Amino acid sequence: MTPDEAVKNDTPPENTVEAVVEASVVEANIVDARNGDGSATPRLTLYVYPSAKLREKALPVGIVTDDTVKIVKAMEDVVAKLSGASLAATQIGVPLRIIVVDGEISGNPTLTAFVNPEITSFATETLSEREGCLSFPGCWVTITRPASCKVKALNLKGEVFEIEAKGVYARAILHEIDHLNGKLLIDHTTSELRRRMIKGKMAKWHKAAVRELAKRRR
Ligand SMILES: [Zn+2]
Repeated sequence: MTPDEAVKNDTPPENTVEAVVEASVVEANIVDARNGDGSATPRLTLYVYPSAKLREKALPVGIVTDDTVKIVKAMEDVVAKLSGASLAATQIGVPLRIIVVDGEISGNPTLTAFVNPEITSFATETLSEREGCLSFPGCWVTITRPASCKVKALNLKGEVFEIEAKGVYARAILHEIDHLNGKLLIDHTTSELRRRMIKGKMAKWHKAAVRELAKRRR
Protein backbone atom coordinates (compact mmCIF):
# COMPACT_ATOMS: atom_id res chain seq x y z
CA MET A 1 0.00 0.00 0.00
CA THR A 2 1.35 3.41 -0.91
CA PRO A 3 1.32 6.22 1.65
CA ASP A 4 -1.25 8.08 -0.46
CA GLU A 5 -3.66 5.18 -0.32
CA ALA A 6 -3.06 4.96 3.39
CA VAL A 7 -4.01 8.61 3.83
CA LYS A 8 -7.35 7.98 2.16
CA ASN A 9 -8.08 5.11 4.52
CA ASP A 10 -7.00 7.13 7.49
CA THR A 11 -10.00 9.42 7.55
CA PRO A 12 -10.69 10.07 11.21
CA PRO A 13 -13.99 8.58 12.39
CA GLU A 14 -15.35 11.97 13.44
CA ASN A 15 -14.49 15.62 12.95
CA THR A 16 -13.50 16.16 16.52
CA VAL A 17 -10.80 13.57 16.52
CA GLU A 18 -8.02 16.03 15.90
CA ALA A 19 -9.02 18.12 18.89
CA VAL A 20 -9.34 14.98 20.97
CA VAL A 21 -5.90 13.88 19.95
CA GLU A 22 -4.42 17.14 21.07
CA ALA A 23 -6.38 17.53 24.26
CA SER A 24 -6.10 13.95 25.41
CA VAL A 25 -2.44 13.63 24.73
CA VAL A 26 -1.58 16.92 26.32
CA GLU A 27 -3.44 15.88 29.44
CA ALA A 28 -2.75 12.18 29.56
CA ASN A 29 0.68 11.70 28.23
CA ILE A 30 2.69 14.69 27.66
CA VAL A 31 5.61 16.48 28.77
CA ASP A 32 6.44 19.77 30.28
CA ALA A 33 9.41 20.75 28.23
CA ARG A 34 11.53 22.94 30.44
CA ASN A 35 14.48 25.07 29.55
CA GLY A 36 17.74 24.63 31.39
CA ASP A 37 16.88 27.57 33.63
CA GLY A 38 13.68 25.88 34.74
CA SER A 39 11.33 28.21 32.86
CA ALA A 40 8.57 26.38 31.12
CA THR A 41 8.24 26.48 27.37
CA PRO A 42 4.86 25.87 25.79
CA ARG A 43 3.65 22.34 26.42
CA LEU A 44 4.27 19.90 23.65
CA THR A 45 1.78 17.66 21.99
CA LEU A 46 2.67 14.17 20.95
CA TYR A 47 0.44 13.42 17.98
CA VAL A 48 -1.25 10.06 18.05
CA TYR A 49 -2.79 8.09 15.17
CA PRO A 50 -4.94 9.00 13.22
CA SER A 51 -3.79 12.61 13.49
CA ALA A 52 -3.19 14.13 10.06
CA LYS A 53 -0.02 15.69 11.49
CA LEU A 54 1.59 12.26 11.27
CA ARG A 55 1.07 12.23 7.51
CA GLU A 56 2.97 15.45 6.86
CA LYS A 57 6.16 15.06 4.86
CA ALA A 58 9.00 16.71 6.76
CA LEU A 59 11.19 19.31 5.06
CA PRO A 60 14.99 19.40 5.28
CA VAL A 61 16.54 21.65 7.90
CA GLY A 62 18.32 24.50 6.05
CA ILE A 63 20.79 25.53 8.73
CA VAL A 64 21.23 24.03 12.18
CA THR A 65 20.43 26.82 14.65
CA ASP A 66 19.56 27.23 18.33
CA ASP A 67 15.96 26.47 17.35
CA THR A 68 17.05 23.09 16.02
CA VAL A 69 18.74 22.41 19.36
CA LYS A 70 15.54 23.39 21.20
CA ILE A 71 13.44 21.05 19.04
CA VAL A 72 15.87 18.20 19.73
CA LYS A 73 15.81 18.92 23.47
CA ALA A 74 12.02 18.81 23.43
CA MET A 75 12.08 15.53 21.49
CA GLU A 76 14.57 14.00 23.93
CA ASP A 77 12.30 15.05 26.80
CA VAL A 78 9.31 13.33 25.15
CA VAL A 79 11.32 10.14 24.62
CA ALA A 80 12.55 10.15 28.22
CA LYS A 81 9.19 11.01 29.75
CA LEU A 82 7.32 8.33 27.82
CA SER A 83 10.13 5.76 28.13
CA GLY A 84 10.39 5.59 24.37
CA ALA A 85 13.36 4.65 22.26
CA SER A 86 13.21 7.16 19.44
CA LEU A 87 11.09 9.92 17.95
CA ALA A 88 10.62 11.92 14.76
CA ALA A 89 9.93 15.66 14.80
CA THR A 90 6.67 15.14 12.91
CA GLN A 91 5.33 13.29 15.97
CA ILE A 92 5.41 16.53 17.96
CA GLY A 93 3.99 18.49 15.03
CA VAL A 94 7.29 19.90 13.74
CA PRO A 95 7.51 19.01 10.03
CA LEU A 96 11.32 19.07 9.83
CA ARG A 97 13.72 16.24 9.05
CA ILE A 98 14.98 15.60 12.57
CA ILE A 99 15.01 12.32 14.49
CA VAL A 100 16.33 11.35 17.91
CA VAL A 101 17.33 7.89 19.08
CA ASP A 102 17.90 7.09 22.73
CA GLY A 103 21.59 6.78 23.57
CA GLU A 104 21.15 3.39 25.20
CA ILE A 105 20.05 1.90 21.90
CA SER A 106 22.89 3.45 19.96
CA GLY A 107 25.49 2.65 22.59
CA ASN A 108 26.57 6.26 22.19
CA PRO A 109 24.85 8.50 24.75
CA THR A 110 26.29 11.66 23.27
CA LEU A 111 24.81 11.02 19.84
CA THR A 112 21.06 11.12 19.80
CA ALA A 113 20.08 13.64 17.14
CA PHE A 114 20.15 13.14 13.39
CA VAL A 115 19.34 16.22 11.32
CA ASN A 116 18.44 15.55 7.66
CA PRO A 117 19.18 11.82 8.03
CA GLU A 118 19.80 9.88 4.82
CA ILE A 119 20.31 6.15 4.38
CA THR A 120 23.45 5.81 2.24
CA SER A 121 23.47 1.99 2.15
CA PHE A 122 21.80 -0.98 3.79
CA ALA A 123 22.37 -4.69 4.20
CA THR A 124 20.50 -7.12 1.98
CA GLU A 125 20.12 -9.37 5.01
CA THR A 126 16.86 -8.62 6.80
CA LEU A 127 15.40 -9.12 10.27
CA SER A 128 11.75 -9.33 11.29
CA GLU A 129 10.87 -7.93 14.72
CA ARG A 130 7.87 -6.48 16.50
CA GLU A 131 7.84 -2.70 16.48
CA GLY A 132 5.90 -0.27 18.61
CA CYS A 133 5.50 3.48 18.21
CA LEU A 134 4.72 6.29 20.68
CA SER A 135 2.04 7.47 18.25
CA PHE A 136 0.33 4.03 18.42
CA PRO A 137 0.16 3.33 22.16
CA GLY A 138 -0.23 -0.38 22.86
CA CYS A 139 0.03 -1.46 19.20
CA TRP A 140 2.67 -3.73 17.70
CA VAL A 141 3.45 -4.75 14.14
CA THR A 142 6.08 -7.23 12.95
CA ILE A 143 8.20 -5.46 10.36
CA THR A 144 10.99 -6.80 8.17
CA ARG A 145 13.85 -4.35 7.80
CA PRO A 146 17.52 -4.42 6.73
CA ALA A 147 19.71 -5.89 9.48
CA SER A 148 22.02 -2.88 9.26
CA CYS A 149 22.32 0.44 7.48
CA LYS A 150 24.62 3.41 7.08
CA VAL A 151 23.19 6.81 7.85
CA LYS A 152 24.54 10.23 6.97
CA ALA A 153 23.21 13.27 8.85
CA LEU A 154 24.14 16.57 10.45
CA ASN A 155 24.86 16.84 14.15
CA LEU A 156 23.75 19.78 16.30
CA LYS A 157 26.86 21.71 15.32
CA GLY A 158 25.81 21.43 11.68
CA GLU A 159 28.64 18.99 10.91
CA VAL A 160 28.16 16.01 8.59
CA PHE A 161 28.67 12.60 10.14
CA GLU A 162 28.05 9.05 9.04
CA ILE A 163 27.49 5.98 11.20
CA GLU A 164 26.75 2.33 10.69
CA ALA A 165 23.81 1.05 12.72
CA LYS A 166 22.87 -2.57 13.35
CA GLY A 167 19.92 -4.47 14.79
CA VAL A 168 17.54 -2.47 16.93
CA TYR A 169 19.53 0.73 16.37
CA ALA A 170 19.15 0.41 12.58
CA ARG A 171 15.48 -0.47 13.08
CA ALA A 172 14.85 2.65 15.18
CA ILE A 173 16.52 4.92 12.62
CA LEU A 174 14.58 3.38 9.72
CA HIS A 175 11.32 3.62 11.70
CA GLU A 176 11.89 7.32 12.38
CA ILE A 177 12.89 8.11 8.79
CA ASP A 178 9.60 6.48 7.75
CA HIS A 179 7.86 9.05 9.98
CA LEU A 180 9.63 11.91 8.18
CA ASN A 181 8.10 10.58 4.96
CA GLY A 182 4.63 10.29 6.48
CA LYS A 183 4.83 6.49 6.62
CA LEU A 184 3.48 4.88 9.80
CA LEU A 185 3.48 1.57 11.64
CA ILE A 186 0.06 0.65 10.27
CA ASP A 187 1.26 1.04 6.65
CA HIS A 188 3.66 -1.87 7.17
CA THR A 189 0.93 -4.43 7.49
CA THR A 190 -0.99 -5.62 4.46
CA SER A 191 -3.38 -7.61 6.63
CA GLU A 192 -6.75 -5.87 6.57
CA LEU A 193 -7.68 -7.64 9.80
CA ARG A 194 -4.55 -6.34 11.54
CA ARG A 195 -5.21 -2.82 10.26
CA ARG A 196 -8.78 -2.95 11.56
CA MET A 197 -7.50 -4.16 14.94
CA ILE A 198 -5.05 -1.27 15.17
CA LYS A 199 -7.71 1.27 14.22
CA GLY A 200 -10.09 -0.24 16.78
CA LYS A 201 -7.44 -0.16 19.48
CA MET A 202 -6.62 3.46 18.73
CA ALA A 203 -10.31 4.44 18.78
CA LYS A 204 -10.56 2.85 22.25
CA TRP A 205 -7.43 4.65 23.35
CA HIS A 206 -8.92 8.00 22.34
CA LYS A 207 -12.20 7.25 24.12
CA ALA A 208 -10.32 6.32 27.29
CA ALA A 209 -8.24 9.50 27.03
CA VAL A 210 -11.38 11.62 26.66
CA ARG A 211 -12.92 9.96 29.74
CA GLU A 212 -9.74 10.53 31.71
CA LEU A 213 -9.72 14.17 30.64
CA ALA A 214 -13.35 14.66 31.69
CA LYS A 215 -12.60 13.08 35.09
CA ARG A 216 -9.73 15.45 35.69
CA ARG A 217 -11.85 18.48 34.79
CA ARG A 218 -14.59 17.56 37.24
ZN1 LIG B 1 6.91 5.82 15.49
